[in-house]
Amino acid sequence: MKKKRKKIFRKEAVFVLIVFLAITSFLFIQKRGEIYKVDSQKKTYLKGDVPTSNEVFATLSKDTLVLVDSADPSSLEAKEQFEQILKDMRMGYQTVDVAAETIPEFSAYQKVVILLSALDLMQERTPDLMAWVADGGNVLFGMTLFQEEILKGIDQDLGVLDSNPNNAVVSSIFIDDTFMIGGGKAYKIDEPFDAARTVSLSDDSKVYAWIDDNSKNPLVWEKDYGSGHFVIDNLGFYDRSVRGIHAASYSLLTDTAVYPVIDGATYYLDDFPAPVPAGNASFIKRDYNMSVSDFYTNVWWPDLLKLHDKYGIKYTGLVIENYEDDTSGKIKRQEDTERFNYFGSSILANDGEIGYHGYNHQPFSLDNVDYGDVYPNYKTWASTEAMAASMTELDRFIKDLFPDIETSVYVPPSNVLSAEGRQMLVSQFPQVKSIASNYFSEDFAYSQEFEIADDGMIEQPRTVSGTIWDDYAKLTAFSELNMHFVNNHFMHPDDALDEDRGAANGWAKMFESFEKDIVWIEESAPDLRKLTGSELAGAVQRYAILTVQQSQNENGLNINLGNFHDEAYLMVRLNNEAKPGNVSGGSLTHLTGNLYLLQAKEAQVTIEMK
Ligand SMILES: [Zn+2]
Repeated sequence: MKKKRKKIFRKEAVFVLIVFLAITSFLFIQKRGEIYKVDSQKKTYLKGDVPTSNEVFATLSKDTLVLVDSADPSSLEAKEQFEQILKDMRMGYQTVDVAAETIPEFSAYQKVVILLSALDLMQERTPDLMAWVADGGNVLFGMTLFQEEILKGIDQDLGVLDSNPNNAVVSSIFIDDTFMIGGGKAYKIDEPFDAARTVSLSDDSKVYAWIDDNSKNPLVWEKDYGSGHFVIDNLGFYDRSVRGIHAASYSLLTDTAVYPVIDGATYYLDDFPAPVPAGNASFIKRDYNMSVSDFYTNVWWPDLLKLHDKYGIKYTGLVIENYEDDTSGKIKRQEDTERFNYFGSSILANDGEIGYHGYNHQPFSLDNVDYGDVYPNYKTWASTEAMAASMTELDRFIKDLFPDIETSVYVPPSNVLSAEGRQMLVSQFPQVKSIASNYFSEDFAYSQEFEIADDGMIEQPRTVSGTIWDDYAKLTAFSELNMHFVNNHFMHPDDALDEDRGAANGWAKMFESFEKDIVWIEESAPDLRKLTGSELAGAVQRYAILTVQQSQNENGLNINLGNFHDEAYLMVRLNNEAKPGNVSGGSLTHLTGNLYLLQAKEAQVTIEMK
């Protein structure tokens, strides 16, 4: 009996011990942040020889003629945007400068994009152009046209009933809800000017966008003419924030338009994990009565994780090891790793990822760069070796913290990266497969396109930033949903400390504003994939090399994809009022109006037409 009791007692002891160990290890995990798993089977990047964007572009047949006037700065601005738009849509083009070259025969092309503000520059070929369109040609007027005699002669054919020599101020753009993702609402213009021709249109013109005021002045419309048709872009501005609108206009030109997109939303957290940011703690003190460090642990990060739980957002955290300004190449290891461990583990446990940002926050530039008054706190590096030593240390630091992860995305501090710094990364750190910097150009900023650079680097510009999105950010986000089907966002923990970034509103208000914009993205594009930085890089890689050939027969629309690997995403616009039936080789999701998202699973896709 005694023996038995003893045995039972032992069993109880073992049970207690197990419970104790479980609690202890739970607490230990809690302290470390959270447990994370690493999926080593992920096929993020393509293997082997991947062509560059320029190599792929060179193979496209040039079925679009682009007319520009090198004597007109606006025409050159439009040229810069439209050429990139067409390259990104994988539409081959030939550009002809009417100030220096003879306009070729239109019959050699399928589409003509006219980036001229006046038709007297057409080398008296306007009658030719009209005849070609009547015969089935397609013309996009990409620039606001100047009121002139020749234009009066063809206005009716373009759908213009009446016009006024005083241009209309484009203060907002209302997008018809069947035209683009995120349509059915107006987007405010940041710095409005009299950019649009003042017109009223005939009933047989189809208007897709207009100024959101009593005038409802048309900004994008389409008009059939004989067997062909005209599309008129009357926005009057040409920058990266409205590319999606110009791209959508271009996609109206032919019966069907099929072009590759990226399909990804990525949320970068710059400087996270990093040492506790310096800055004005007064708003945190005012609203939460806690230290900045506690605020990030108990408020900021739990709030952001709510967005992961609710909308599936994946965060890519970018490590800064220290905020010192030593650019000599002499390394001092960060010893205080608790915060890095806690937040890094939590990012990873919540489907996120860790990326490179810096050993410190000094951008990779050498002494040939003078930051002047723009970045008074930034120093340049002593040498290429010094930059490389800091990068090696950052890599060592991340690997020591998280031995099982792969790190492949680099984000330059303040989006500043010199040619020498970039070269150092390419030649010495082959694990860096993608750079995520800025879509827009600012002082010293490394500005990018979504592409594979000539040296193989995958470029993935961040398109929107901050907790509170201004009108320009919203317009850009809308435009990019349509241009690349992408939302590449970044924010900083110290937004909540910085009055210029809205900190005086208090974090609760900032977070509310951020969530509202996330909800708007979710509602506009529920199918947009939530990706980490490296997953977006992989998506850009697949997107950037894809070529598209389409043809129609009695079976429907046949799409042949070049450089296809495992999957691809494409926008499909069906302008001929046909409805899609069965799809083989992929699946089709309705986006809005006659616009669809195609997920291709094979290089040959057929869409039956009803
Ligand atoms: Zn930073």
